[in-house]
Amino acid sequence: MYKSIVVTNDDNGYMSNIAEIASKPLQEGEVSVEVKYSTVNYKDALAITGRAPVVRNFPLTPGIDFSGVVIESKHPVWKAGDEVLLNGWGVGEKYSGGLAEQAIVSGDWLIRKPAEFSFKETMAIGTAGYTAMLCVMALQQHGVKPNDGKILVTGANGGVGNIAIIILSHLGYQVTASTGRTQESEYLTRLGASEVINRTELSSPGKPLGKEIWAGVIDTVGSHTLANACASTKYRGAVAACGLAGGMDFSATVAPFILRGITLYGIDSVMAPLDLRKQAWERLATELDKIKLDALITEISLADTLGVAADILDGKVRGRIVVKL
Ligand code: NDP
Repeated sequence: MYKSIVVTNDDNGYMSNIAEIASKPLQEGEVSVEVKYSTVNYKDALAITGRAPVVRNFPLTPGIDFSGVVIESKHPVWKAGDEVLLNGWGVGEKYSGGLAEQAIVSGDWLIRKPAEFSFKETMAIGTAGYTAMLCVMALQQHGVKPNDGKILVTGANGGVGNIAIIILSHLGYQVTASTGRTQESEYLTRLGASEVINRTELSSPGKPLGKEIWAGVIDTVGSHTLANACASTKYRGAVAACGLAGGMDFSATVAPFILRGITLYGIDSVMAPLDLRKQAWERLATELDKIKLDALITEISLADTLGVAADILDGKVRGRIVVKL
């Protein structure tokens, strides 16, 4: 038996509780993992609260990320004792996930935990940090260089935003952080932002084209913020869009695309191919400042997780929450 958060949706309504679950025998290709740490991402908070239809099978254990040790394997790559991590692949949405003491998943979805990070640090990074790296990689592959000008990071006090700032500043980029919590400006500066702006500057409907400001953008907010970011991206600049914290809509015009040749990259971490994931984690292992990473972490227990979920969706949480199992 092991402890798990379980989401149910039946005659009693949508509920998340902690329950004791019996281990199941493994199918061919599956691996069971003793979860050491998980985390609460924005999507996990949606799954726990039911504020958006993230969970597609009930009952289900939420948690799109975990790090831990292989207990038993029916997959050729993995053996008992291996240290692994998992991000996405529909885990915590379609399949039971990491907010439990044990997880059973396909061995195809696991990545070896980088030796540079502890189990806890791996989850302080989690999907948020790995997505931040995918965004940075998209801007770099586009050819955006540090001396091309400012990079805008929106939702700066969130997990993706925080880690994007740390990575970009390490690589020598000049980062403008957009946040609704300007009282955290000093914290954002310590992470590496050279300028902090109030998110209200970007959150209302704007003009099709604005002043050319950004060489690149990492956007976690969507909606008008993304449209305004595109409208102020410099000639042939790039925008990496990964989030919808401000809304799923995108009311923009084609003007920035056809008059300034900007490129909008969509960033998906959930089904990203294994090679890309490995590249992102290898780069995190060498390019992420661990001292700054440690400053982002708040550690909680499985029981605390249920209460924290609503705070995340209300934008009250700064940095990264890790859950110790
Ligand atoms: P967090 O909850 O950690 O942070 C979200 C941040 O967004 C908040 O801290 C806040 O930043 C800002 N925000 C919240 N509400 C609003 C609002 N109404 N308007 C404008 N800004 C708002 O989430 P993550 O950083 O983990 O994720 C950010 C987004 O990226 C989410 O939408 C998430 O679903 C998405 N995501 C997508 C992935 C993908 O594969 N495409 C992977 C990971 C995340 P501040 O206080 O600084 O304003």
